[in-house]
Amino acid sequence: MYLIILGPPGAGKGTQSVLLAKLLSIKHLSTGEILRKAVTEGTELGLKAKAVMDAGNLVSDDIMIGIIRDAISTDDAKNGFILDGFPRTLKQAVELDKIMIELGYEGLKVINITIDDDELVRRMIGRGRVDDSAETIKNRLSVYKGQTAPVREHYMQKSAVFDIYGIGNINDINNEIVALLKGKKFKNQD
Ligand code: AMP
Repeated sequence: MYLIILGPPGAGKGTQSVLLAKLLSIKHLSTGEILRKAVTEGTELGLKAKAVMDAGNLVSDDIMIGIIRDAISTDDAKNGFILDGFPRTLKQAVELDKIMIELGYEGLKVINITIDDDELVRRMIGRGRVDDSAETIKNRLSVYKGQTAPVREHYMQKSAVFDIYGIGNINDINNEIVALLKGKKFKNQD
């Protein structure tokens, strides 16, 4: 199963991805985690990405597409994955489509977590991550609305998109996602 989880920062993508990856025996690929690891290790990628991440901006499409191409080409990713934090721009989505075709992966499904802005800000402040300062949070939300929200529309044209309301008990939300993934009816095919 090939999954993408979309939604604003603080929506619970990471939490739900970890649960889904375990349950479905697929690989969890978080681009935010890959980048934070590179920053901690002080690699060339980390040095390039740090200032961009601290400001709440997006790392360049070329870099991100390269990371994802490598990450999903591995043998264990072939059996299924959930992408958490990618694609974040239309260009990334279009390039991912091409890479999936090249690799012969079919049947991408998209989970889109929706949540209110007030709750997002409350959650991000609670996380205490370095890129969760008040100014950066504001910027990340506006980057999300400008650049990432259109990614859902891209997939509405071509894939199964499941919209899930992200407020509530973590396990209930997880069960709801699993039920939708197992069902035949897609949100954009009502
Ligand atoms: P996340 O953990 O997904 O919230 O990502 C943390 C930060 O990493 C983001 O605010 C971006 O600066 C960067 N990042 C993660 N994924 C991407 C991506 N697909 N494209 C561009 N930047 C990304």
